[in-house]
Amino acid sequence: GAEISARNIDNLAQHFPLCMQHLHNTLRRDCHLKHYGRLQYTLFLKGIGLNLEECLIFWRTAFKKISDDTFNKEYRYNVRHAYGDVGGDANRRSGGYSPFSCQKILTEHAPGPGEAHGCPFRHFSMDNLTTLLRSAGVSDRAVLQGIQEDKESQKYHMACNRVFEYLHKTELKRAKEEGIFTAVQLETIVHPNEYFKRSYLLKN
Ligand code: SF4
Repeated sequence: GAEISARNIDNLAQHFPLCMQHLHNTLRRDCHLKHYGRLQYTLFLKGIGLNLEECLIFWRTAFKKISDDTFNKEYRYNVRHAYGDVGGDANRRSGGYSPFSCQKILTEHAPGPGEAHGCPFRHFSMDNLTTLLRSAGVSDRAVLQGIQEDKESQKYHMACNRVFEYLHKTELKRAKEEGIFTAVQLETIVHPNEYFKRSYLLKN
């Protein structure tokens, strides 16, 4: 499979759940993300196995419009902090923060205007969600209908798992036939990093 490095994030983004695809697209469009988006995305990238050095390269090259000086002053510290490279003893001992679960993303810090973090299944209008889904390759009407129903009944995980199953239907069928997954590995995805892990495993 593709190596987990700064220059491969664009390729790896096909394995990201919608929340992280949206952060990635927004970052590429604006060459910037606001604080909470940076935190949600940095911790996800850490969770997929991007090391601190590569993560700093990733953000430095993504923020094309700012100088090295501004980057070092305003952004470098927070990335290092998320990895436990700086901060108090407790932060360093624990290796920084853990990547956010869906539960946390769904319930804490709802995004405000101009912010790209959060969960699209919860925080987007159905119109905007449909646009994002289509750009991610989900245009099947029955699937979109199912997602709308999940969203209306606030079953956001179910909508996300529906997307995963749709986008990986060929690989999932083969993996089930070949007994590649255990029952545990086929449980509902409740963490963005689990979404990535499964997608990456299936397609590599
Ligand atoms: Fe991300 Fe979880 Fe929402 Fe899926 S359900 S988009 S993984 S926060």
